[in-house]
Amino acid sequence: MLRITVWNENLHEKESPEVAALHPNGLHETVAAALRTEEDFVVRTATLDQPECGLSEEVLAETDVLFWWGHMGHDRVPDEVVDRVQDHVLRGMGLVVLHSGHFSKIFRRLCGTPCSLGWHDDARERVFTVNPAHPIAQGIPAHFEIPNEECYCEPFAIPEPDELVFLAWFSTGEVFRAGCCFHRGYGRIFYFQPGHETAQSFGVPAVQQIYRNAARWAAPVKQVPEIDCPWIAPLEQG
Ligand code: ZN
Repeated sequence: MLRITVWNENLHEKESPEVAALHPNGLHETVAAALRTEEDFVVRTATLDQPECGLSEEVLAETDVLFWWGHMGHDRVPDEVVDRVQDHVLRGMGLVVLHSGHFSKIFRRLCGTPCSLGWHDDARERVFTVNPAHPIAQGIPAHFEIPNEECYCEPFAIPEPDELVFLAWFSTGEVFRAGCCFHRGYGRIFYFQPGHETAQSFGVPAVQQIYRNAARWAAPVKQVPEIDCPWIAPLEQG
């Protein structure tokens, strides 16, 4: 059983009739629905307006992989919540950061770099699988298209990814590192660029499969109860 929490700031849905129509139960439920096809996934959602942003110690303790979608409300996530999520990632929880989550406090904290990029609206996107042997690429074609996505532009100010799985090309001429893996402490992090609130990517089968693959890849391999720095008895009398 894989316990997943999909977190969403859930703000665009309340302000934009277009977004509300595309995601009638919130973008978090759109993503969650693509994950609930798996019998061994137990998926819950959490949003910014809940107590502790829906990410209490109890919720995180019961979460193997946390999905994160945020955009206009990054600064509304209290630092104590960011501290808590970071601690869980370093101790082994997986984190999947979608689209504009590149500028979230938690992703920037874990990367340690600005995570800035360029952007413009509305392009056709072609995603190339550049690492076909990677677990997140399983079942994903060599390339697939998203009819309409927001274009993200390099340079993307992230650390050199530990593994680059997907590279995107846009019909307006740009390229972007669209699927990047990082390891922080015991935790695994996957950043995935498609997912603008009005884009068509959420319904693309390959995108939905990437969500599922990313959840399985980011699942904890080893978790520790705390990050500590213990005294170790010498092995030899040197
Ligand atoms: Zn966007």
